[in-house]
Amino acid sequence: MSKFFYNVAIAVPLRQIFTYHSNQQIIPGTRVAVKFGRTNKLGIVTEAINETNIKTKPIHIVLDDLPIFSKTELKIFQWASDYYLHPIGEVINSFLPTNLRQTKNTFEAETIEGNKEIIEQNSEFETTLNSEQIKAVKFLNELKGFMPTLLHGVTGSGKTEVYIRCIYEQLLNNKSVLVLAPEIALTPQLESRVKDQFGDLVGVYHSKMTPSARYKTWKKFRSGEIKVIIGTRSAAMIPAPKLGLIVVDEEHDSSYKQQEGFKFSARDIAIKRAQIIKIPIILGSATPSLRTLKLVEEKKFKTISLTKRVTQKNPPKFTILDINDVQLVSGLAPQAIEAISQTLKQKKQAMIFINRRGFAPQFICSYCDWKAMCNSCDSSLVFHHQAARLICHRCDSAFGVPTHCPNCSKAQLSFLGTGTEQLEETLKELFPKISIHRMDRDSTTKAGSLETLLSEINNSDTGILIGTQMLIKGHDFPNLELVVAVDIDQGITSLNSSAVEEMGQQLIQVAGRAGRSYGNATVLVQSRYVNDQNLLQLKSGNYLNFAKSLMKQRQLTNQPPYIFEASIKASSPKAQTNIEMLNHAKQFIDSSKCLLIGPIPAIQSKVRGSYNHHLLIQANTRTRLNKLLAHLSHSLSKDKNNISKKVRWGINVDPLEF
Ligand code: ADP
Ligand code: ZN
Ligand code: ZN
Repeated sequence: MSKFFYNVAIAVPLRQIFTYHSNQQIIPGTRVAVKFGRTNKLGIVTEAINETNIKTKPIHIVLDDLPIFSKTELKIFQWASDYYLHPIGEVINSFLPTNLRQTKNTFEAETIEGNKEIIEQNSEFETTLNSEQIKAVKFLNELKGFMPTLLHGVTGSGKTEVYIRCIYEQLLNNKSVLVLAPEIALTPQLESRVKDQFGDLVGVYHSKMTPSARYKTWKKFRSGEIKVIIGTRSAAMIPAPKLGLIVVDEEHDSSYKQQEGFKFSARDIAIKRAQIIKIPIILGSATPSLRTLKLVEEKKFKTISLTKRVTQKNPPKFTILDINDVQLVSGLAPQAIEAISQTLKQKKQAMIFINRRGFAPQFICSYCDWKAMCNSCDSSLVFHHQAARLICHRCDSAFGVPTHCPNCSKAQLSFLGTGTEQLEETLKELFPKISIHRMDRDSTTKAGSLETLLSEINNSDTGILIGTQMLIKGHDFPNLELVVAVDIDQGITSLNSSAVEEMGQQLIQVAGRAGRSYGNATVLVQSRYVNDQNLLQLKSGNYLNFAKSLMKQRQLTNQPPYIFEASIKASSPKAQTNIEMLNHAKQFIDSSKCLLIGPIPAIQSKVRGSYNHHLLIQANTRTRLNKLLAHLSHSLSKDKNNISKKVRWGINVDPLEF
């Protein structure tokens, strides 16, 4: 009997591929069950190879008749594994629906031919496009082959309608479309608008759905029954028979980057996918990332703009409020309270943007300076009034609220700082007759609560909205005329180089919710750094001015996107072990070819009982960075020294935080 040899990717944290044999011919991309150590594991055949002289074990079961992933899709996984220096088995596994991660389920592939009639029935559109939108649609629909294109549309310029026409064009050609969105559950508008238009041809895919609902959608898209997927980052690699276009909405959003495990950016994988299958990709945003703007500048990406709001209303005016010598009331300056009061008098809505949930970020003893800290993280506990608990926002541990100081026994405990809950209570006292809505993770945990909240807000003409960054994404609040940004200074003072960029994006996005109907809106930005040059740039309300000035600074100071970065993170119960491991790892990095910083404690230096440290590597070119990392990863995997086995280590390419 003839014997065939296959390389199999198995979801284990080992940076290698494993060879097995079978007497069956298996097409790469097929799922198989193999013995790994003493357990049965799921594997994906990645390639057939010639006879090998290493001793191989047999493939137990070939699970499916046909491959799950195509050759092209396997190529993208391989690229991701090389780019992120992450084990190929884990890369593939993270894009497999949960149901297919087990060896007991079989996958039955089917193909359904598109029905042109259904698509043609959808040719009636709800809105008539304005001239800028028409121009953008024409431009985008004429793109051929791999052509990444930034659709820069100011907030309220009607990007969604442009996507819809581009999707339609693809459907007419019997092609499928993948639409990525940062957090669909938080921004139901995109989903509802695309579904209104294309009905049953649309499926959604995100982590709030049950595994079986996700699997159903996955199968339907793969078979061609569904033509459009709106999904979060895990949707980036859903197979599709004839993918014609990828749209990445809000391309700047940091939630495209996975922070745990396989730390990929869905935006970047989507771009690679478009490149490998040679199709256009639209990156849409009102506040594009500096990375994208740099690629536009270098003419590697095309760009088209929507410069005006659909409503033709003026964008909001920014005012920066100096809060240095001001007595704040629950974080609000008197001038801000006065502005809220005026807005309410005119029967309009006001919004307070504050990126802290809970009642107060700190709980302290004023006698001995004791501060409530989490047992297993180095973070202070946040006082939650409604839940009557002190909660750690890193690990979600909750503790009772003591009446006496655990350190000195005095009853002089109090809270410090402001969170959304406190603002809500204070504003209720200040404006007892006004409806006040709070939108944060705590107020939207129940299923359907977000939708209820949003419809309540839209059905009342006046009132106050309080919310975290959850509130600033993509919502349309027609009566909103005032925004107060309470707590943005962390963006200016943070050590993370991406913090300023994110602050600018958040301010422009939050401002974009306001003034859609009347055009007299104001954004009040409270700050202690009123002369900060980035903040001053934002005052114009023009994001591109801000971004260009920030890019100049980045170029002068050798920061991303002008250089390329990665971090090597070590985690273990002992800080000293991390430091030893990272110092040991340094010998595998040629420091003449890069800038090497560390080992230093991570900003989140202790989480769930583990200490975190890292090394930061900066290189002038992507290729150089990748080579250095590949060498490091290879050397550490082969390392005989015990030290690298004592810590959990991982590589984060293009990290967002340190
Ligand atoms: P953006 O995503 O660019 O901020 P949206 O796509 O949310 O903007 O559009 C803002 C609002 O304008 C939506 O309510 C949308 O239905 C509406 N809209 C978009 N294009 C038009 C148009 N050409 N005519 C009228 N209304 C439009
Ligand atoms: Zn005390
Ligand atoms: Zn904790």
